[in-house]
Formats: sequence, C-alpha cells, structure tokens
Amino acid sequence: MLIQMTEDHQLLQRTVRELATEKFAPVAAEIDEKEEFPWDNWRMLGEYGLLGLNIPEEYGGPGGDTMSYVLAVEELARVCATTSLMLCGQALSTYPIVIGGSEEQKRKYLPEMASGKLMGAFALTEPGSGSDAAGMATAAARDGDNWVLNGTKHFITNAGIADVYMVAALTDKAKRKRGGISTFLVDKDTPGMSFGRKEKKMGIRGSVTGGIVYENCAIPSDKLLGPVGEGFKIVMETLEKARPGIGAWAVGMAMGALDQAIQYSKERFQFGQPIASFQAIQFMLADMATQTHAAHLLVLHAASLLDQGVKAPVYSSMSKYYGADVAMKVATDAVQILGGYGYCREYPVERMMRDAKIAQIFEGTNQIQRMVIAAELLK
Ligand SMILES: Cc1cc2nc3c(=O)[nH]c(=O)nc-3n(C[C@H](O)[C@H](O)[C@H](O)COP(=O)(O)OP(=O)(O)OC[C@H]3O[C@@H](n4cnc5c(N)ncnc54)[C@H](O)[C@@H]3O)c2cc1C
Repeated sequence: MLIQMTEDHQLLQRTVRELATEKFAPVAAEIDEKEEFPWDNWRMLGEYGLLGLNIPEEYGGPGGDTMSYVLAVEELARVCATTSLMLCGQALSTYPIVIGGSEEQKRKYLPEMASGKLMGAFALTEPGSGSDAAGMATAAARDGDNWVLNGTKHFITNAGIADVYMVAALTDKAKRKRGGISTFLVDKDTPGMSFGRKEKKMGIRGSVTGGIVYENCAIPSDKLLGPVGEGFKIVMETLEKARPGIGAWAVGMAMGALDQAIQYSKERFQFGQPIASFQAIQFMLADMATQTHAAHLLVLHAASLLDQGVKAPVYSSMSKYYGADVAMKVATDAVQILGGYGYCREYPVERMMRDAKIAQIFEGTNQIQRMVIAAELLK
C-alpha cells in the first residue's frame, strides 16, 4: 500500500498538535533567545510518551512505528523546531540499539530512553570526517576485557547533557566501512570521556551541539553494540530509518511558516486592501502549500514503506532532502510575505528560516542524499 495511516495515527496527530499549540508554541521564541536547553519541554515529551515512538512495545515504547514518529515530529516542528528535534535526537540514538543491541542492552536502555529518563546521543561526525563518515579517526583497541577509545567527535546533538552515547569507532583501520568500524554504548561519567565546546549556532539554538573527546576511555566489552566490525551497517540502517524523521521535522517547519504567512497576508493591509488579495501573494501561497504537501507525502510514503518492512534508502533520502529544501524555500517565502516584519524576531518566521537551514546539512547533507538516490538509479 502506498501510505498506511490508521485512525490511531490521526488521533496522535491531533493530540500532538494540541499539545504543541498549547504548551510549546508560547515558549518557542524564548528558547531561541535564551539558547538554553528547555528541560521542561523534554520532561513533558517524556510524560506524553513521545520520546520513544520508534521503540517497540516489548522495550517500553508504544509500538515502534515510523508513521507515528514522523507525524509527531511534524506537529511539534510546526511550532518549535528545538523541541521537535528532541524526538529526532532520541530516535537517532535508540535506533542503533533497536537494530544492533543485545537483548540485555535493549532491556537496560530502551525503556528508560522511551520515558525520557535517559537521553541519548549519536556520535558519528568528527572534525575531519563529516560527509565521509567512514573517514573517521576515532579508534577502539582491545585491552583484556575492555575496549579503549581514543579520538574526537564533533557537532554532536546532546553532547554533555545526554546519559548514553552511541559512538562509532575504527576497530580495523585497513577495513574501515568494510568491516572495520564498530559501535559502542558509552555511559555518561565514563572516565576518559569529556566534552568540548558547545557550538553557537544560527538556529535550533535551544538544542545543544558539542564536541566529545575520548582519551584512553576504557569501556567494558558488553558495551559493544552489535558484532565487531558491523558498526557501519548499524549506522547506515539507523540513518535510513531516521531520515524520514528529519524530512518530517523540515515539513513541520514549512507547515508552520505557511500558517504564519496565510494569517499575516489576511491581516496586513496595503494599498487599501489585504495583501492576500494580490495575485502575486496568492501564487506564492499556492506554491508554498503545494510544495509542503508534496514533501509531506514523501515523508509519509517513506515512513509507510519502513513500517511495511521494505528497505527504502532511496525514499528515505528523498523525503529528507526534499523536505529540507522545501522548508528552506517556504520559510524564506514566508519571511518575504511578512516583509520587514518577517525579518524581525517579533514574528516566528525569522526563527523558522534560521532553524530550517540545518535540515539541509545534518544527518547527511542534501548533496549526500542525492548521491544515495543517484547511486541506486545507476545501479
Ligand atoms: C546542529 C548540528 C547537529 C548535528 N548533530 C549531529 C549528531 O547528533 N551526530 C553526528 O554524528 N553528527 C551531527 N552533526 C554533523 C552533521 O551530520 C555534519 O555536519 C554533516 O554530515 C556534514 O558534515 P560536515 O559538516 O563535515 O561537512 P562536509 O562533509 O565537510 O561537507 C562540506 C560541503 O561539501 C559537500 N560535499 C562533501 N562531500 C561531497 C561529495 N562527495 N559530493 C558533493 N558534495 C560533497 C557537502 O554536501 C557540504 O556542502 C550535526 C551538525 C550540526 C551543525
């Protein structure tokens, strides 16, 4: 089936929309202004069971379907990108455990991550390796019953505030992505793990992004996630599952910017009439709505395929890059429709435009998504 959406999904969508409007919209500007992680919002998301939507029922989640996850992400991003990104960060760090974790690891981490008691981080990027993730320098060497990690991670969401870190490291430098990368779970407070500087960012300013340093960081062998050398596969499968979430996050911002532009265009009078009566504005709104809807359908399609157990890296990449490009365009057009007011912080479209930019960059830049799609087409 092209898209499978149930009544439960629609109910979840409505419930999250109400929660977002009542609780998160009023504080979104303040979060951006203060550049502080909004712990109250994190706790509320945990209480509503929204942090573990991608986690199967037997491990404390509500069922683990991607459709619920993307719908919730969209509705939250419509009003507050920083709050919505909490779901994406948690999904990015729980998917590797769902995919590659032992039964013991799943039972230890997933229920508490689903409730928000534990926060996760996904540490792949390094100062010298971003798009070329397998070009990493962080390495793990065996030492008796332990693995010893050395290296530096960079631009990691939730660095320093997370409780558990999924870390990718080289265990065979010669093999790299062909069996030479492994993944590890590193608990907060493990000696040898410390945190670098917190980035000052253009957008998503309430979200923490920072560096991590591993210096002779010894971790017990039961913290190896999946078999030795299978880490790159776990990372790739994680990204395939997580990217529709970033597409949804971006689509949510586009929806929010469109809402603002429609409302403003009816209220703002120039030349004695609302600017919504000008065809130039109407055509912009029509384009924005069409592009947002197309991006929304791509996200739902990718989510639906994943939920039907179909390997869908191409659709996953399409939904991420198209959603991100649409969010950037729609948010920019919304600023244009609001004119000078759109450029000022009094209206949320200024923040939405800054927040949207990162969707084109993280979880694989939009160029990298196009490479994934083209590689499949040219197979
Ligand atoms: C706010 C934020 C949060 C993040 N969160 C996380 C996180 O939680 N975990 C994590 O591991 N990482 C995270 N990242 C890192 C993010 O995924 C990387 O920044 C991204 O993958 C790009 O890597 P890079 O910045 O090194 O850019 P580069 O790889 O250096 O790319 C620079 C430019 O070159 C282009 N380029 C590179 N290679 C090619 C190619 N072969 N063909 C065409 N163009 C190419 C890119 O598209 C880009 O435009 C985060 C980054 C930010 C800014």
